[in-house]
Amino acid sequence: MEVIKTIKEMKEFSSQARRAGKTIAFVPTMGFFHDGHLSLMREGRRRCDLLIISLFVNPTQFGPNEDFKNYPRDFERDRKMAEEVGADVLFAPEASDMYPSNHQTIVRVEKVTQNLCGRSRPVHFQGVATVVLMLFEIVTPHAAIFGEKDYQQLVTIQQMVRDLHMRVEVVGMPTVREEDGLAMSSRNRYLLLEERKAALSLYRSLQKAKELLQKGERKAERILHEMKEIFQSEPLVKIDYVQICDAYSLQDVNQIEGDVVVALAAYLGKTRLIDNLIFHAL
Ligand code: AMP
Repeated sequence: MEVIKTIKEMKEFSSQARRAGKTIAFVPTMGFFHDGHLSLMREGRRRCDLLIISLFVNPTQFGPNEDFKNYPRDFERDRKMAEEVGADVLFAPEASDMYPSNHQTIVRVEKVTQNLCGRSRPVHFQGVATVVLMLFEIVTPHAAIFGEKDYQQLVTIQQMVRDLHMRVEVVGMPTVREEDGLAMSSRNRYLLLEERKAALSLYRSLQKAKELLQKGERKAERILHEMKEIFQSEPLVKIDYVQICDAYSLQDVNQIEGDVVVALAAYLGKTRLIDNLIFHAL
């Protein structure tokens, strides 16, 4: 596996690969890999001739009071894991190379970024869309693999790719969980023991929602009420939002039909976790 640190070299590599007729799968990440990341990498490995992984803690997708500085980083561990999964390139650019001092362009995807995480993280999705567009331009992937764990991010990227007629297939992969159900996240490592225990209520509430949906409940309000009862028994959990939205527009629904996402975000101490359930109502 090659480690590439400059945009120039990455562009040269991808141009050459394309000229040689190779297909490129791409997995953008912020590092501190876990099995969720690895499942996207394996999918990329399976789909294309070459697998390129980017590792870049993107400053523009963090708000001023968020955890950019403390975001977990361990380059050597990530390098080994990417190599073991069979990646061809680990692309780890410098922020000063990605955003030179005269950088002026931002990509804003409108409607799908307004609800859910967009409410409490107003600059987040423009940071994500901008960096992903730049990475796509540098890496020129045929397929890019994203996790459904960050469901609003996946929908935002899909919207951007459609809107801008980009030549990349966006692939979503299911959320990988710890044995007890907690969604894997690089941020889980911040959790204190008691917070880790309380965090399980996020998964439990989604399981409750699933059970109700499977029994035929179609009133969003009733499902949300039962989910909130589960969090109320956990004083360490401070809910940011729990919502049920159309899976494509990400607008709230009252009456559930078609594809929906039950999405939530919560603070455990300073750590903000998200999780969701995608449900296809018949
Ligand atoms: P991050 O490094 O947190 O930016 O995540 C990089 C990619 O991994 C994104 O597409 C995430 O949605 C995906 N991802 C993060 N956690 C999980 C998980 N538990 N299961 C599947 N994919 C995940």
